[in-house]
Amino acid sequence: MNAVILLGHGARDPAWAGPLVKVREILARERPSLAVETAFLTFMPPTLEEAVSMLAGRGMARIDVVPVFLAQGGHLKNGFPERLDALRRRYPDCALRLAAVAGEAPEVIAAIAAHAAVQADTPSEASRTGLPGKVWLVGAGPGDPELLTLKAARLISQADAIVYDHLVGEGILALARPGTEIVYAGKEASRHTLPQAQINAMLAALAKRHSMVVRLKGGDPFIFGRGGEELEALSAAGIPSGIVPGITAASGCAAYAGFPLTHRDHARMLTLATGHLKNGGIDLDWPALARPCQTVVFYMGVAAAGEISRRLMAHGLPADTPVAVVRQATLNTQNALFSRLDEFPMRLREAGIAPPALIVVGEVVRPRGELHGPD
Ligand code: SAH
Repeated sequence: MNAVILLGHGARDPAWAGPLVKVREILARERPSLAVETAFLTFMPPTLEEAVSMLAGRGMARIDVVPVFLAQGGHLKNGFPERLDALRRRYPDCALRLAAVAGEAPEVIAAIAAHAAVQADTPSEASRTGLPGKVWLVGAGPGDPELLTLKAARLISQADAIVYDHLVGEGILALARPGTEIVYAGKEASRHTLPQAQINAMLAALAKRHSMVVRLKGGDPFIFGRGGEELEALSAAGIPSGIVPGITAASGCAAYAGFPLTHRDHARMLTLATGHLKNGGIDLDWPALARPCQTVVFYMGVAAAGEISRRLMAHGLPADTPVAVVRQATLNTQNALFSRLDEFPMRLREAGIAPPALIVVGEVVRPRGELHGPD
């Protein structure tokens, strides 16, 4: 949740707090999802520090301090930036920003009511201080929005800008607040919408304009998600970054298709492999992948199904090893095909299964409820 502190000068006569209290009421009514407090520079409680401490204690992720009837050159100069900096150091988990809006006439109060939340239309902290904002690499999970982590959902709902892949479902983007700049950078096999270098440059450019940029990636950003490359590029550009793990497609697909990825009787090892074709082939350690008692999950493997089947059999994996191909796992459109190693490429073609789909190879793969073993 985000908060706004309406910061007034304060006076000996409590009646002077009237306009501020009025604005707080308007904001509380207009924006019930915001926590709104007042604070004063002098004479009246609470101080800015007390208000921030109280809101940070309630777990606010962002607090916008909105000066009301305060002179930018006077009240907000002497010692004030230092006080804000001290608060930022004291509450590092809470983004504390100073809004540019200062009401200087009664009618401005109405404008503050509409704008005080410091949404997209007011200049962000990043653009005013010249410091870059933070870029979060966020795992969006395999598709079902309910498989998001709480942290991912919070960051998505607070972001100033979101850059997303084609694997990120619409239900997830719906969590963004109105006014968020949303950019599509999707990639599909052999149809890269934007080259990686361009995505890196775009993230850097967005971080110059916004305090908080979310780079939303399907599944987990560090599992075949190029999260490592993007982090390196951000750090080379001097942009602060953070990472939020997500449920990877293999976990989502196994859970929703109803089989475990490991099982103490059938698989003591789990390998996540890329089936992405490079120069017409896949460069993998096939003898290792063909060993028994393991589960092998191929990401991006649909186009290489024939090669996967041939190579695993050539290295000794039995032709009747169970294989599942799960498309659009965890979404309403999920489609699971249960087959065997020698037949699945043909069955997959017949069923017209196109990416994104995972190929899971191993004895754990049984249609729901068929796998038995001692407890
Ligand atoms: N970072 C992602 C993987 C990106 S690679 C993750 O951790 O899941 C893209 C591949 O992931 C796709 O080609 C497909 O094989 C797989 N994939 C992603 N989402 C999927 C889904 N909902 N259902 C099936 N496969 C999926």
